[in-house]
Amino acid sequence: MENNVLYIVVPCYNEEEVLPETSRRLREKLEQLMQAGKIDERSRIMFVNDGSKDRTWELIEELHAQCRLFCGVNLSRNRGHQNALLAGLMTAKSRADMVISMDADLQDDINAVDAMVDKYLEGVDIVYGVRSSRKTDTFFKRFTAEGFYRLMNALGAESVFNHADYRLMSRRALEGLEQFKEVNLFLRGIVPMIGYRTDTVEYERGERFAGESKYPLKKMLAFALEGITSLSVKPLRLITGLGFLVFAVSIVMIIYNIVRWATHATVSGWASLSCSVWMIGGLILLGLGIVGEYVGKIYMECKGRPRFIIRDVLDDGEEGR
Ligand code: UDP
Ligand code: MG
Repeated sequence: MENNVLYIVVPCYNEEEVLPETSRRLREKLEQLMQAGKIDERSRIMFVNDGSKDRTWELIEELHAQCRLFCGVNLSRNRGHQNALLAGLMTAKSRADMVISMDADLQDDINAVDAMVDKYLEGVDIVYGVRSSRKTDTFFKRFTAEGFYRLMNALGAESVFNHADYRLMSRRALEGLEQFKEVNLFLRGIVPMIGYRTDTVEYERGERFAGESKYPLKKMLAFALEGITSLSVKPLRLITGLGFLVFAVSIVMIIYNIVRWATHATVSGWASLSCSVWMIGGLILLGLGIVGEYVGKIYMECKGRPRFIIRDVLDDGEEGR
């Protein structure tokens, strides 16, 4: 039981309506896991207050004062879900052996925690919670969300289908995550880049039991765009492809124009104009695409991502000689 300290990290933004119930259920779950001997007594539930405007932080302080199982992190202001989550993960990293992240609204079935911990005990480093169905989501939400995953993958952002931010990460996986220095944060795209042994656990996604979604359509679209543009430079490469295409068409057009011109089937001046429109259009797009390639390289370089993460080193020599 030495190395089984579990931290459950929960980002909270204006969640005063759900916190009492969430904390009650999470505490029950944690105590149950402790009694079963699966996790250490030092395990905790960590609420991250993301600059809430309501009584969320006061509630977290009260919870902490009442029960040692609860702890809290208070951000200086609202920084958004992903940043709040990262703040929690990084704070928990040095105290825990495994960390599970979940939303405050209990939409993620907390009974999946048992299966996640079991997988960790089997030696898995990252366990993704995957939605088995979206029955409770509206058609609109389901359609947009699933379309989003497909688009992401098509645009080169590797991510786990139907997985949000409900996952377990081991300490060394978090240490890997720490090496990603990017400011444009899209965790569910970065986590698969870490590597190590991964697995999934299925769960049913329920409805938010109180309060409103903090992710209206506008935020969701911004999030999708953020995901695509922060993970891949494929959109830039599309311009290069388009340039090649238009350029190829321009060559066909030139041949066609010459034939038309030679057979005197054109008004004078048409052939040269039409040729240059296609040709120059193609060349401009191609030029843009090439510039884009370099911009993309610069973009990726300045993220300063780790080029590798070492799992083990086998060596008899001592370090630091
Ligand atoms: N959240 C946050 N900061 C924000 C917005 C949301 O920490 O700026 C938290 C929120 O408290 C919740 C989680 O992110 O725990 C997911 O938000 P929500 O349930 O509203 O999103 P949805 O499930 O509707 O996608
Ligand atoms: Mg929710």
